[in-house]
Amino acid sequence: MAAIVATTVQSADNISVLGSKPRWEVLEGYQQRITHDEFLHLINDVYCTHGFAADLIDVNDDHARILMSRQAQKFFTLRFATGNAAPKPVPRLWRPARSLPPTRREKPLSGLKVALDPGHLGGNWAKMEERWFQVGDTKGVQEGDLTLQVARLLAPRLRYLGAKVLFVRNSNEPTTAKRPDDFRELARKILIRNGVPQPRADVLESGDPPKEQTIRWQSEILFYRYSEIRRRAVRVNSTLHPDLVLCLHFNAEGWGDPKNPTLTETNHLHLLVNGSYLAEELESDDERFEMIRRLLSRAYDEELPLADAVALAMSRETGLPPYQYPTTNSTTHVGTSGYVYARNLLATRLYRCPVVYCEPYVMNSKDVFARIQAGDYEGIHNVNGIERKSIFREYADSVTDGLVDYYSKARGLGDGGGTPSRR
Ligand SMILES: [Zn+2]
Repeated sequence: MAAIVATTVQSADNISVLGSKPRWEVLEGYQQRITHDEFLHLINDVYCTHGFAADLIDVNDDHARILMSRQAQKFFTLRFATGNAAPKPVPRLWRPARSLPPTRREKPLSGLKVALDPGHLGGNWAKMEERWFQVGDTKGVQEGDLTLQVARLLAPRLRYLGAKVLFVRNSNEPTTAKRPDDFRELARKILIRNGVPQPRADVLESGDPPKEQTIRWQSEILFYRYSEIRRRAVRVNSTLHPDLVLCLHFNAEGWGDPKNPTLTETNHLHLLVNGSYLAEELESDDERFEMIRRLLSRAYDEELPLADAVALAMSRETGLPPYQYPTTNSTTHVGTSGYVYARNLLATRLYRCPVVYCEPYVMNSKDVFARIQAGDYEGIHNVNGIERKSIFREYADSVTDGLVDYYSKARGLGDGGGTPSRR
C-alpha cells in the first residue's frame, strides 16, 4: 500500500496527485510498432487536441522524442515502424475482438473478459462523495448505489452471451484501504501549494472560507477519488486483466442544495474514451507517460468503435439526445455516433485496456427522478405517464445490445439478426 503514496506533490519529480514515477523503460517494448502517420494522427486528433509545450513531444520522420524530465533534460526516443512490412504486434494483456477465439452466433461475447466498474461508492459514503440528493421525504438518490444496481443486472446478461464478467467493485465499501484521515497532511500541502497559506481543518462558521479550502474536504477527495480510483486501477491492471472495462455512471445537472435539489427537464446521454489531454496535464511526467503508453497500446482502436456501438444502442433504447459539453476546454468529439467524447479521466487513463465510460441519464431530471423512485421491476410499467422498462434494466439491456452489435460484427458473426434472446 505504501507505494501508492510514496510520491507526494512536493517531490522533486513532476508527478500528479498520488501518481507513481513513470517507468519509461516499458516503452522499449513498443519500438517500431507504430508508423509515423498513425502516431501523428493519434497525437493530433485524439490525445493532444489542446496542444502542448513545444519541448514535450518532437515528431520526426522516423522517430519521436518524448520528454521524460525537463529538469534532467532526458528524452525517450520512440522509433517508428517503417517500410512495407506489417508493424510487429503490440505487447498487451487484453485482446481485441478480432483475436478472440471463434464462437457461435448465439454466444457473441464468448471468451471475452469484461470488468464492470460501477462508478463511485454509494452507501454510507454517498454524502461525502457529494453524489447524493433527496427530494422531501422520498428515497434519497445515490449515484454509487444506482451504478452498482445496473452492474448487477448487466453481469448475468453478459454471462448468458458467453462473457466472463468481473467486478471492479461489488459493494458499497471502498477498494482502497486508505481513509480521509490518512491524507490530512497531503491535503494541507496541496492547499498551501494552491495558495491557501493556513488551511483550516473544517468550515466552522458561515463567514469561513469555502469548504474546498478545508483540510477535511481535500482529504476526503484524495480518499474517494484519487486513492480509490488508483486502487481500482491496480486491481484492473494486476489482478483482473480484462479485455474491456465498462465504467457505469449516471449523469446529473447541478442540483444545488442536496436537501432541496433543483429538478430539471434536461436529459441526455454521452460516452467517454480516453484522450483530449490538457496542456497542463501533459506537463506531469506520469500523465505524459501514461498517455504515450496508452496511445502505443492502441486501446483507442478498440474502445472508439465499441463506444460508438454502445452509444447507438443506448440512444436507440433510451431515446436520449447527445449531451453537448458547454465548452470544448476539456473534451473532444470523436467517433461517428455523435455521442462519444475523448476526455482524460483517471479511470480512462489508468485502466490499461479499452475503457468505455457510460454517462446516460440526468439523475435530477424530472423523468429520471421518477424512474429512479419507481425502482427496479420486471416487464413494463407505467412510470411518469409512459409504459416502459425499469431504468436499471433499460440501462443494462442497452449496454448489452451495444456489445452484441460490436462483437458480432467484429468477430464476423453476420449482422446478428437482432439481439439474441435474453434470459
Ligand atoms: Zn459518476
